[in-house]
Amino acid sequence: MLEMKEMKAKGKMDLKHNFILACKEEKFKRLVATLKCPGDVAMKYTSSLEDTVQELNNCDSCKGIAFCKNRLEGHVYYPECKDEKIIFSYAPCKYFKEMKANETSQDDEIKNASFKDIDISDNKRTKVIRWLTNFCKEYEPSKKSKGLFLHGSFGSGKTYLISALFNELKKKNINSEIVYYPELLSDIKEDFDNYGNTMNYLKEVDLLLIDDIGAEKVTEWSRDEILGTILQSRMNNYKTTFFTSNLNIEELEQHLRASSYSDDQVKARRIIERIKQLTIDLDLVSENRRK
Ligand code: ADP
Ligand code: MG
Repeated sequence: MLEMKEMKAKGKMDLKHNFILACKEEKFKRLVATLKCPGDVAMKYTSSLEDTVQELNNCDSCKGIAFCKNRLEGHVYYPECKDEKIIFSYAPCKYFKEMKANETSQDDEIKNASFKDIDISDNKRTKVIRWLTNFCKEYEPSKKSKGLFLHGSFGSGKTYLISALFNELKKKNINSEIVYYPELLSDIKEDFDNYGNTMNYLKEVDLLLIDDIGAEKVTEWSRDEILGTILQSRMNNYKTTFFTSNLNIEELEQHLRASSYSDDQVKARRIIERIKQLTIDLDLVSENRRK
């Protein structure tokens, strides 16, 4: 058996050997140069640096996020030298940045949605728009009014239309909230101290839109503790609640089951019953308006 000392020496030799070999590749050499760290530091990270080079190579011939071959979609595993150490993190690629910038501009569009900007030329949407205009006229927080379960394909304008309604009603001092449902769940997990406050707020706010239900990962906790509780409370207090979904109500029930256990079936049914009590079911047929 090798002595400890010898083993260490051999290890170091291997490191050096591998590093020198890797440096024969131009891209690797350049990456190490941009790091500006001492050579014996870089040596310890040869295989991770090679991973970076591989990912950068993938990027060179990449045509867009959908074609991404890297470990984390839209990102490059990238090194940085700090205090004689190399730290790797996932840096967003150009396509990812572009996508984010687009989303932000769409978010702004939706935040500022207004009835006067609604495009009414598409007569497939007339029914929904008529319903919304009427709701806007008639709604009073003290009245028992049902909301909408608005379903339809991606980009058809579901979120936009309900947001326009909420903005219109803000002018009459009616408070409202839009929660992007898949994100609510991770927000609650991240800020658990605020759990009670968040839940109370969502139970109490006059108008609530639960946006994109059906796009979340279903767990017993999210379905029964979070969604179930909010809906039950809003039902009891006659608070108007809206939903948007890419799924119709039957598909949503299927989605909420998550498993074929009969217990799950009962619980999914219970949520669906609440949604049906709270809303009128309409579908929005339209082409994708997202750019
Ligand atoms: P969905 O929620 O159905 O997936 P969105 O509400 O996000 O779709 O709408 C997709 C895009 O189309 C958004 O950028 C939105 O601003 C725009 N849009 C939707 N409906 C209208 C409309 N009636 N007038 C103008 N722009 C609209
Ligand atoms: Mg939407």
